[in-house]
Amino acid sequence: MSDQHSRKSRAPSPSGGKGAKGEKGGKDPVRRDPPRRRGQPLAQETYRFEDGEERGAAFDPKRDVPLFLATGNPGKVRELQALLSETRYRVIGPEVIHKFAPAKEDGDTYEANAIKKAYHYSCVIRSLVLADDSGLSVDALGGEPGIRSARAGGVAATDADRVRLILSRMENVPWEKRTARFHCSIAVALQGKPLATFSGSVEGMISFEPAGSAGFGYDPIFYYPQMDMTFAEMTAEEKDHISHRGQALERARAWLEEYAILNQE
Ligand code: IMP
Repeated sequence: MSDQHSRKSRAPSPSGGKGAKGEKGGKDPVRRDPPRRRGQPLAQETYRFEDGEERGAAFDPKRDVPLFLATGNPGKVRELQALLSETRYRVIGPEVIHKFAPAKEDGDTYEANAIKKAYHYSCVIRSLVLADDSGLSVDALGGEPGIRSARAGGVAATDADRVRLILSRMENVPWEKRTARFHCSIAVALQGKPLATFSGSVEGMISFEPAGSAGFGYDPIFYYPQMDMTFAEMTAEEKDHISHRGQALERARAWLEEYAILNQE
């Protein structure tokens, strides 16, 4: 009745951030500017929060280009951070995004929602903003959950609840009709102007039962035939290489690298 495929899975390793350096005590303990050291100037990227507070993240302008990542989803943050790790872009945002009013995701397509999110945050942040919208379309369910993938089953539902929901709706669907795909659209915006969009998708099947513990969301039931594994059984690198988000970000990355060069001071 059900396909069995059990494989080892490795947990993704989140990368650590940098801490700000303090300075020796003086008369003015409440200095607002970050300390500058010769050869390593620091700049400040400012966010304007809902409560009017302005705060910044320090980065090295010689080496880093700040890129605000408009998502609080830890699974997406890890993937996007890993995929951008070899660029000059330094990801900011995931640690403070909850302080902003959320963007309305009421578009009819992934692309429309990605643009809405990128535009929304780019109105209150100085740096480039990258937003993604993604989801799972299951053919036997008429393309659902689609753009509602994150909200399927209600706001209180967990990833595990959503996986169970899909499996229960597909109880009587035979293997050959369990085709599905993940899609991801990415939008980049700067100071209220959408600049570019990119997309990627990957075809797979909905397995009869969850397998694997890596990844997030629907990964445990998204079976990828070419590798005989679900996405949750893959290493982070394996998934990044083939995933919808990996493909979209690879396209975005090429554009971002060119953008960074063209806009270099
Ligand atoms: P949003 O893009 O934040 O609106 O949410 C996308 C939702 O689609 C996630 O919360 C997941 O439920 C699902 N999803 C998108 N990409 C993936 C993936 O790579 N693996 C598993 N689930 C995903």
